[in-house]
Order: sequence, then structure tokens, then C-alpha cells
Amino acid sequence: MALTAGIVGLPNVGKSTLFNAITKAGAEMANYPFATIDPNVGMVEVPDKRLARIDEIIPAKKIIHTTFEFTDIAGIVKGASKGEGLGNKFLENIRQVDAIVHVVRAFDDDNITSVTGVVDPLDDIETINNELVLADLESVTKRYDRVEKAARSKDKTAVEEFEVLKKIKPVLEEGKPARSIDFSKEEMPIVRGLFLLTAKPILYVANIAEEDMANPESSKYFKIVEDYAKSENAQAIGISARTEEEIASLDDDEREEFLEAEGVSESGLDKLIRASYKLLGLRTFFTAGGKETRAWTFHEGMKAPQVAGVIHSDFERGFIRAEVTSFDDLDSYGSEQAVKEAGRLRVEGKEYVVEDGDIIEFRFNV
Ligand code: GDP
Repeated sequence: MALTAGIVGLPNVGKSTLFNAITKAGAEMANYPFATIDPNVGMVEVPDKRLARIDEIIPAKKIIHTTFEFTDIAGIVKGASKGEGLGNKFLENIRQVDAIVHVVRAFDDDNITSVTGVVDPLDDIETINNELVLADLESVTKRYDRVEKAARSKDKTAVEEFEVLKKIKPVLEEGKPARSIDFSKEEMPIVRGLFLLTAKPILYVANIAEEDMANPESSKYFKIVEDYAKSENAQAIGISARTEEEIASLDDDEREEFLEAEGVSESGLDKLIRASYKLLGLRTFFTAGGKETRAWTFHEGMKAPQVAGVIHSDFERGFIRAEVTSFDDLDSYGSEQAVKEAGRLRVEGKEYVVEDGDIIEFRFNV
């Protein structure tokens, strides 16, 4: 279930700098002696303060964070949708990722030329989004004609798909992304089946100046990016890529000190990781005690047996029940015993929809 967010942006906006911060942070991970992975993929730990608290109450030999992957997507240029340069490859790479992290330049620096000559985040965003919209428009138009014919012969699936295409096409023609449309619950699976680039969830990252780190709102560029994001039901965060790269090579204590001096409670990278995780509808559950206290990723809405399968397929196959304590209960009662005595340890079955923060012991039989 490893989902990945692809980092895109025009040249010279700070993508590589940000990706370096990600790989450096990933290299610091103690518990992942991972084999060769794609050099364009950077794996990071998902920061979660609850793990330390669980370990305090139910000590284990080690703590393992859950992880998240970013994919570095090589540069885009105007004309990508027409297959210019690496254009096609670029669009293909975006098609493979589950969400888009769109980096835009939001810092002034005369030494670093911007491709367009000026710092204009809105223009940067639109340059890329136009290419994605054009690529989607091309595939939607092709499909439109085919499905229209089938819909005329009253084929039910075709009629439903045609309704969706009729909603999407004019929006794309206006230059707007498919994600700006409010689809019904019934339409969503059809939309997903179209594999549109502009329907993917997106997070805008304004690469702001270091002085603005503590308060992105003070950046004259950030607000512009944020407003744009809101206009298409998306979110924006401000981070300083260059500073993140520096922070990523510090050890834990030095990092704490640095962040404190900057007046921020959390690094921009941590902010980015958590926002991307949420963007993809990802949630965390825990297993505790013994060899390891560990955070695991599941998808919002998953039921207990499926979630057990995140740990091992045997757990899913032989699922009997889940013994569940919420993190908040463990935190406030202070011990497993106290949780039990308060009647807050729950036994849940196959239909239980797991919640973020559940600490679970699975019972299974294979
Ligand atoms: P990419 O082409 O989007 O991958 O951009 P790079 O990451 O290579 O960055 C382009 C240039 O901008 C490099 O010289 C970086 O050092 C510089 N840069 C990146 N982030 C920042 C930043 O936050 N502030 C400043 N002043 N320069 C930055």
C-alpha cells in the first residue's frame, strides 16, 4: 500500500533542494536498512509524538515510525503536454504517483535566475497546471466521443460515465483542474477510473525565504499561493527548502535548538510529511510493547481485518478479533491496567472501522 507523492515544479524553484532534505532525513532513519530503492524515491519517517508516549507507558526494545515516500519528478517545461522535450515522460511520471506536491518559488534572490525572469508564483503554478489540464483535456476529449456513442445506445455504464465526462470537459476547457469539481460519492469511482492528472490531490509548497519561516503569512508570495490553492479545494504550506536541507543534516538535539531559535515548533519537512500523509487519507495505528512499539499506516475507512493485513497477510487471513485501546485513553489513564479497569479496552470484530490512534493487538489463527 505504499503510496507516493510526486514533487513537481518549474526549474530553479528549489525542488532538488527539498528532495535532498528528504533523502538526508531518510538516511538518518535508524531502523530501515533498506535495499536499493529508486534514486528518485525518498523515504522518510512520519513524525508522531504519540510513539514516545506509548513507549513511556508500555516500554519496548525499540520504537519504529511508519514511513512515507516522495518521488522526485524531473523538470517540466512549457509544451510538455505536446510531448516536447521530456514532456511525455514527465506526464507519465505524474500519472504514477498518488498525489502531487507542487513546489513554487516564493523567495527573492538575485543570484538565482527564475526561468521566467521574475518571481511570480501564480504564473509558475499556472504554467504547470496548464500542461496538466491540456493533457487531461486530450484524453477526456478522446473518451468523450467514444462514450457518447455508447451512451446513445443506453448502455448504463456508458450513460453514467458520459454524465461525468460532460461535467469535466467544460471545466478543463476553461483551464481549470478536475479537482475543482464537486463530484458525488457515486461519481468518484468513475472519476478515478479516468486517471486524470488534474484530479489527483495536490499540495502547494511555497518555497519561502528563511526569514519568513516562523510566519509564512508574512511572505508577500505565500498568500498568493494559498489563495490559489483554496480556489481549487487544495492546501498550501510555506517552507524554506534551503533551510530544511541544513536542518536535515543536524542531529536531534541540534535540530531542536535550531528550530527553537527560528521560533518554530516543527520543521518544514515534518509539516510537509504530515500534510502529504493527510492529503492521501492516510491514518496511523499502533502496536505496542515487547520487541517494538510501532506505528503503521492504513487508509481511512479500512476495517479491522484489512488493517491487520498491513502487518502481515496471515493476520488478515486468520483474523479473529482486535483488542483495541485508543491512544487518548492510554494517555489519560496512564497504564494498560487502568485502561482495562475503566472498561476502555474494547474487543472489536470484522466490521470494526479502525480509527487513527488505535493501539491494537490482533488475535488471529492460521
Ligand atoms: P530545482 O531546479 O527546482 O530543483 O531547484 P534547486 O533545488 O536546484 O534550486 C535552484 C537554486 O535555488 C539553487 O541554487 C538553490 O540553492 C536555490 N534555492 C533553493 N531553495 C532556496 C531558498 O529557500 N532560498 C534561496 N535563497 N535559494 C534557494
